[in-house]
Amino acid sequence: MPEIYPFSEKGETYAEEDMERLGRRGRRAIELAEMKIPVVPGFVIDSRLTPELPSKDFSESLRRGLVGIEEGVGRKFGDAANPLLIKIVVSSNLSLPFYPTVFNVGLSPTTMPGFSTLIGEKAAWFEYCYLLRTIGTKIFDIAHERFDEIIARYSDDVEGMKKCAQEMVQLVGRDNVPDDPFQQFVVILKNLAKRYYNAEMDAEDPPALLVQGMVFGNLGEDSSVGMYYTRNIISGEDRLQGSFLLNSYTLDRQGQDILALDGEYLNRLQQIGRSIERKFRELREVKFIVEKKKLWIINQTEVDKKSTQAHIRTLLDLMKEGTVKDDWVVEQIPPGQLATLLHSVVDEESLAGIPAIRGGITGAPGAAVGRVFFNADRLMEAHRDAIQKGEDTRMVLVVTASYAEDVKAIEVGQGVISAEGGYSSHAPVVSRSLGKVSIVHPDIRIGDRFFEYNGVRVNEGDYVTMDAPVYRDPTIYTGKAKLISPDIHTNGLTDFIEVVRRFIKDDFVVRANADLGRDAKVARTMGAFGIGLCRTEHMFFAEDRIQRFREMILSSSYDERVRVLDDLRPLQRGDFYDLFKIMAPYPVTIRLLDAPLHEFLPRNDEALTEYLEYLQNKGIKPEKAEIQERIERLHEFNPMLGHRGCRVAITYPEIYEMQVRGIFEAATRLKKEGVDIVPEIMIPIVMNPSELRFLKNGKQIEGQYIKGIRDIAREIFHQEGVQLNYKVGTMVELPAAALASGDLAQHAEFFSYGTNDLTQTTFGLSRDDINSFFPAYTMYDLLPNNPFQVLGDSVKELIYISAERGRITRPDLKLGLCGEHGADPSNIEFCMEQSELDYVSTSPYNIPIALLAVAQLNLKKAKAQ
Ligand code: PEP
Ligand code: MG
Repeated sequence: MPEIYPFSEKGETYAEEDMERLGRRGRRAIELAEMKIPVVPGFVIDSRLTPELPSKDFSESLRRGLVGIEEGVGRKFGDAANPLLIKIVVSSNLSLPFYPTVFNVGLSPTTMPGFSTLIGEKAAWFEYCYLLRTIGTKIFDIAHERFDEIIARYSDDVEGMKKCAQEMVQLVGRDNVPDDPFQQFVVILKNLAKRYYNAEMDAEDPPALLVQGMVFGNLGEDSSVGMYYTRNIISGEDRLQGSFLLNSYTLDRQGQDILALDGEYLNRLQQIGRSIERKFRELREVKFIVEKKKLWIINQTEVDKKSTQAHIRTLLDLMKEGTVKDDWVVEQIPPGQLATLLHSVVDEESLAGIPAIRGGITGAPGAAVGRVFFNADRLMEAHRDAIQKGEDTRMVLVVTASYAEDVKAIEVGQGVISAEGGYSSHAPVVSRSLGKVSIVHPDIRIGDRFFEYNGVRVNEGDYVTMDAPVYRDPTIYTGKAKLISPDIHTNGLTDFIEVVRRFIKDDFVVRANADLGRDAKVARTMGAFGIGLCRTEHMFFAEDRIQRFREMILSSSYDERVRVLDDLRPLQRGDFYDLFKIMAPYPVTIRLLDAPLHEFLPRNDEALTEYLEYLQNKGIKPEKAEIQERIERLHEFNPMLGHRGCRVAITYPEIYEMQVRGIFEAATRLKKEGVDIVPEIMIPIVMNPSELRFLKNGKQIEGQYIKGIRDIAREIFHQEGVQLNYKVGTMVELPAAALASGDLAQHAEFFSYGTNDLTQTTFGLSRDDINSFFPAYTMYDLLPNNPFQVLGDSVKELIYISAERGRITRPDLKLGLCGEHGADPSNIEFCMEQSELDYVSTSPYNIPIALLAVAQLNLKKAKAQ
């Protein structure tokens, strides 16, 4: 057995199995040597010797090791005139922030004269005292205070230091610090082995001991000490980041910027940094010393605090230059981490002194700053006002829960704070699709133009900062902090997505939940393979459309409704045209209207007045009382289980007819323009095959014929002289539908699992109310996860049964999932592996996360085969 493993810039290399016995610090030093980097020379004592060190004599090997260091550093261990000092590091295989280290070994009254000429007599005695203190505290667990007491008794001149040293020797024990340098080295090694090797716990994997020469950055103006990261740890920019101090023993003060270092050293440090990045395949921290113009590398380590952006940019650079392969790059980043490249983050330093309201849930991640408004219209007005006056236009909407008429304010604002709801409620869903921030905090109390929590009060017009990270609970700061915002084109995200997409295969893709052309563009940038859910009711959120939509649902007769629908059709046609065109050649699934009525009706007097004004402007003279009465008639006790989805179309077939016409008109127009697309029409809230058959094929009843989708398609194709392929499918979002999947598949060419409603109806948990009682369920461990985020087992079982039954009827049935669960990697694994779906569909800003999860699963599968 070689006993010791010497290393130096000459480039020693060792077998992998040997390296495993040298501990982390030992390995790091040897890895530097392997790269022929000017590492300060040293040797590592094999970890198998550690248990025997206290009792056995290894002097010969130790002396041999010291000779190697002496040659490299140009000093002699124990020499009175030109002494070499060394450090000893306990090098275990554990990842620790600090490894126990004894510096200045070899310094004693014997070598003091030589060391004094090197750094000055007082400094030399100070370093000797430092050695004694380290031995006392780190090896013998003597309290620091005991050493402080000694120091306090003496002056800090040479004489005082000498006396301190004498007393410290007494305290540590004469036998533990022999004056003979070699004896001292051996005794310290033995005592370190005794102290840090525990026969019971470490027998399998004892720590090794690293012995390394010491060099000094305080030997004059041609010496310095410094550290740097191989590139910027926040931005990932390929420029060294760090600092140095001229003529200093350690980097214990604010140093100068590393880029101000002499060009010759800087070039070498850059080259060294590059080799280290290539070797370790990540950015790293490097410590160096220049001793009388000679550059030495002391150590290099991983950087835990590097940003995801910096990590990804390093990986991409290494990939471009051929150091690493694309599959390896894709495997390095946990999917959820990408969130930090997609959303702003709060600059922690700017938070000092701002009170915080913690808790609640993140509805949509990110960070936002703005003045709060408790009503959408007031927010809109303040926004317009701010634009005119050139003031800060950033606003945050605070509401108990949001509804259709609030969407305009969410859109112009930075975020929404709501007091009711859960992850798949209106405010979070809308915020996620618009890339805004949402926090749901069930314990805030919203009053008249203020909200309050635990004695902290925020009034309308006050600033808040919303911090809604993906991994931690959110916080609302009651003041204005600074944000750091991402640019996905420069932070590496778009390049990274391109690499990730190489590992997506046709059998499982990621689509977007996107409602408007603008969302579709974002979705494409984020790498979507089509749209899996266009919620057409969201197309009516815009300020100029919501009133027309209200007019449609509040119509008192068929004729009145058809008139409004005729008005809406060109708008819908335009919307669909945009979506199809932006997404071509990828598929687009248009879901026909599913508007829980309570989200769309005027909810208060202000909204009602606006609606009445709208009617008046159209020349209609509405009776307020009559309109109110119609609203009341539409009131439902349980709107989520009420007149929504396809049920509305069964009562009023003309509504879906208008939408289906709009879809085919847009598609035929595109076909004439040379853009061939296959529209996918999807029906929501289906509970049985009869509904689906009725809406698809139409029905003759009491002499009246109700057109189905197929009839409308035929009509338009005939009228336009164009033939098109199209698909009709269904949402599966009710347990009854899941169980009836065998029959549903006779009429549906695709299913999309609407897991928001499927969770709501399977668990009987309201997606809008869960938050008020979920914390107690978490506290008592009654539900493993929030089932609106992580698919519950019963929902998974229903999907599994449905997929199986559906495919028996129609083997080429396409299956997707479009609930808010679509971006969570654990749900994706279920969709890909267990249920063998064809895609998940998720909000545009979640697409990179989902893509990465899919790519990693594909790579894992490929490697397992
Ligand atoms: C669902 O229920 O999962 C779904 C996607 O539909 P929505 O959220 O629009 O009800
Ligand atoms: Mg639904």
